[in-house]
Amino acid sequence: MFNLILFGPPGSGKGTQSAKLIEQYGLVHLSTGDILRSEVKAGTALGLEAKKLMDQGNLVPDEVVIGMIESKLDEHAGAGGFIFDGFPRTVEQAEALDALLLRKGTTIHSMLALEVPQAELMRRLLERGRIEGRVDDNEHTILHRISEYRHKTKPVASYYDAQQKLRSIAGDKSIDQIYAAIQAQLAQLGPED
Ligand code: AMP
Repeated sequence: MFNLILFGPPGSGKGTQSAKLIEQYGLVHLSTGDILRSEVKAGTALGLEAKKLMDQGNLVPDEVVIGMIESKLDEHAGAGGFIFDGFPRTVEQAEALDALLLRKGTTIHSMLALEVPQAELMRRLLERGRIEGRVDDNEHTILHRISEYRHKTKPVASYYDAQQKLRSIAGDKSIDQIYAAIQAQLAQLGPED
């Protein structure tokens, strides 16, 4: 099994790079943002509860997203590995993920952190807002999401750095240049394609 975390602030390109990785390596993509948006769309109780928080750019409670990830790991029990995108977003979530993977006899092999300057994040997210119409891609909410990232999510990088699993990738380049840098990292430790 090979388990990878794609880490970075909102707008850093985690979803875009995940799509390329899945195609090449056949890993299962677990994006808590995508799962939450499909719950909202389906109008489930969880979706209704999450929608208010998401629309304001606040994080959804740890126990909610940890529960979602646990059931997805069970659902894909035979998978060759996972790409975690947008999760873990707090140290509590990282500790829970490590415990869940340990129970399954596996671990996180690497965290790739996409580094992008704030002005570029804002530019990309406003553009996505125009194209995709995501409610949380407006200037006020983007600033709050970046602040949530700085305060609650950034410490997750140190958590995996302490396990020698953190690798930084310059994320303010073209999609293909970023992917080439990711592949170079994975060539040292990653899955077979
Ligand atoms: P994303 O699509 O990853 O940008 O996530 C969109 C929104 O979903 C976030 O602003 C949060 O409100 C919520 N969310 C997604 N993943 C998580 C997570 N791991 N922990 C808490 N909230 C999350």
